[in-house]
Amino acid sequence: MSDLANSSLGELAAALKARKVSAVELATLFLDRIEKHNPALNAYIALDRERTLAQAKAADASGKVGAQDTPLAGIPLAHKDIFCTKGWRTSCGSRMLENFISPYDAHVVEQLNAAGMVTLGKLNMDEFAMGSSNETSYFGPVKNPWDTTRVPGGSSGGSAAAVAARLAPVATGTDTGGSIRQPAALCGLTGLKPTYGVVSRYGMIAFASSLDQAGPMAKSAEDCALLLNAMAGFDARDSTSLERPAENYARDLERPLAGLRIGLPKEFFGAGMDDDVRAAVDAALAEYRKLGASTVEVSLPNSGLSVPAYYVIAPAEASSNLSRFDGVRYGYRAPDYGDLNDMYSKSRAQGFGAEVKRRILIGTYVLSHGYYDAYYLKAQKIRRLIAADFQRAFESCDVIMGPTSPSVAFAFGAKSADPVQMYLSDIYTISTNLAGLPGMSLPCGFGANAMPVGLQIIGSWFGEAKMLQAAHQYQKVTDWHARMPEAMK
Ligand code: GLN
Repeated sequence: MSDLANSSLGELAAALKARKVSAVELATLFLDRIEKHNPALNAYIALDRERTLAQAKAADASGKVGAQDTPLAGIPLAHKDIFCTKGWRTSCGSRMLENFISPYDAHVVEQLNAAGMVTLGKLNMDEFAMGSSNETSYFGPVKNPWDTTRVPGGSSGGSAAAVAARLAPVATGTDTGGSIRQPAALCGLTGLKPTYGVVSRYGMIAFASSLDQAGPMAKSAEDCALLLNAMAGFDARDSTSLERPAENYARDLERPLAGLRIGLPKEFFGAGMDDDVRAAVDAALAEYRKLGASTVEVSLPNSGLSVPAYYVIAPAEASSNLSRFDGVRYGYRAPDYGDLNDMYSKSRAQGFGAEVKRRILIGTYVLSHGYYDAYYLKAQKIRRLIAADFQRAFESCDVIMGPTSPSVAFAFGAKSADPVQMYLSDIYTISTNLAGLPGMSLPCGFGANAMPVGLQIIGSWFGEAKMLQAAHQYQKVTDWHARMPEAMK
């Protein structure tokens, strides 16, 4: 494997600037690796070599490579297939959008294109981002590059597998209840979900709008910071996009951690976490103490209600968002039908998979007259309590740490028959989304079957730079994030 395939964004930018490599050569290098390894992984579900190389050629000719305000120009990346990408199929992992070619770019894609980055392709995902294992994709599951009999996590499993296998230097992902952090943990990557509203949701196919947030998936915290710099920003087309001055998320990376107060929620360290995960997380915390940080116990008393509250709120929003897929305006239409209602129901019955239908049914039920107060309103009140728990916890700490996922990557089929077991995969990540907080996962060792373990860092609102600093300082003294699967070399 060429060293370039395993390089950081900074190293790639330097090689491009020094003209040691061109954007076209870099794109070709990754496209060739994709051709070789993707058949075993199923991470990419849309590739278009000509389109990619044309964009790379344009980047080489643009004058952006090496320019100060476009530090990522000429570097390739890949997008989760939830982001609308002009001219590319945007399927959201669903039969419903199997033939949908987007006529426009998502804000995130627009920004990364303007930064001079080059799109390698679109990445597999759970259908409409509903899942924790990538097994709900209409295009088949993604395999974990560390062990292809195991899941990569989800819903951004394609993004995680692609970066872990070095089939892209970085990728975009989205996180509604854990979909950036959990696959990052299961594939040995660093991934970050920003504070709600930091990245525009325009052109990102909606699952649960009050929870959805896009973020970077990368090998290191430093790369996450650089990609987030290019992804974040106000966009008037998303009414929840926050109008704030631009931040340099890499600004604090080199600051030492002395004095950092790490909150450890006692609810995260109780039963439920596997022993191998606990051992790796404990070892990481010991490393943090060596770096000058202190740990303090905090409590998130309502965190046990996060999964039930999420599985009312997220399906409620999904049932509304997915009503647009009716077979009329775009997407799949059943070939044979009687009247209009029959066309709607057959198109939706055939176009959506089982998990999506389950969520639409739950969501419609909890929003219906007579149940709204008992379920939806109640869940919203719990959501408020969960946010208040965090607010209280952050009075005595700067960041919160704990496991990202209760277990390492599991085998295909291990949880797919039991939705509740699958939903519990996100037990440590979901409360962050409910509270709108930023969270990230970084590799902190290996557990059972030599599979990666993720450490979760939760920041206070707009605490991205601090989380990234904490992650980067740890990555300077450890090398878990630098390891890659042997078979992908
Ligand atoms: N696994 C969770 C779900 O199935 C979260 C998914 C996500 O973050 N998109 O809803």
